[in-house]
Amino acid sequence: MSLAFTVWGARGSMAVSGARYFRYGGDTSCYHVEVEPGHHLVIDCGTGLRSLEERLGPPPLRFTVLFTHYHLDHLQGLPVFSPLYERANQFDFIGARRGGVGAAEALHLLLRAPLFPVPYDEVPARCRFRDLVGPLEVGPVRAAAIDLRHPGGASGFRLEGPAASIVLATDHEAGDESIDAALASFAAGAGVLFHDSQYTRDELRGPRAGWGHSSFAAAAEAAARAGVPVLVLTSHDPERDDESLERLLAKVRRHFPATEAACPGMSFPL
Ligand SMILES: [Zn+2]
Repeated sequence: MSLAFTVWGARGSMAVSGARYFRYGGDTSCYHVEVEPGHHLVIDCGTGLRSLEERLGPPPLRFTVLFTHYHLDHLQGLPVFSPLYERANQFDFIGARRGGVGAAEALHLLLRAPLFPVPYDEVPARCRFRDLVGPLEVGPVRAAAIDLRHPGGASGFRLEGPAASIVLATDHEAGDESIDAALASFAAGAGVLFHDSQYTRDELRGPRAGWGHSSFAAAAEAAARAGVPVLVLTSHDPERDDESLERLLAKVRRHFPATEAACPGMSFPL
């Protein structure tokens, strides 16, 4: 079985919709690999989860879910993800524990009144929780994590599959030399680096500095430093419509020609 790593949501901060967002999509963070028949590795549960749901087979299904962090744009697809309401399905939720909060605490906060009508304890699927500590095997895929620079912390992931390696750094503010150097060695040898590029350099000179996101230029620098062959820009700002994203993509390609911008349905062999 050949594996495919697919993007279902690449929008940062909040979901957007409308004709201006047709190409690069409006759904928030969600990435997916079917690692074995019926066993799905999902990274982040943003609103992109809805597009994934349309493509899933019948139960019983198994999900291994890795969270980059627990900000709402990375969780908000989960309460309405219908496989959660199927008794035959099994979920393993895995994420780093930060400030005393791991995946279990985050989901218990989310699935309860007044935020959601179904409390977590009444979810029919079998759910298990694990703190992310060290690399793990998900079917034939090995997943390793790195701590990135983001308010409250965020994990980046490196997935090693039978065919390729992909690094995902969705929420990261470049500029801390030790973290940037660690990310460069973490991504070295990978086939694709997904890197946060929510803002332009000019935007980051204003109040957005410290919000935990990188510039387009920083993403290109990170890809060059890691020596990866392909850069994929991600965590698109909700303000960034297709036209302005195309314009910025063209600029980045002058510095790093093999650059793409993440969009729903974009897929790479893993
Ligand atoms: Zn965040």
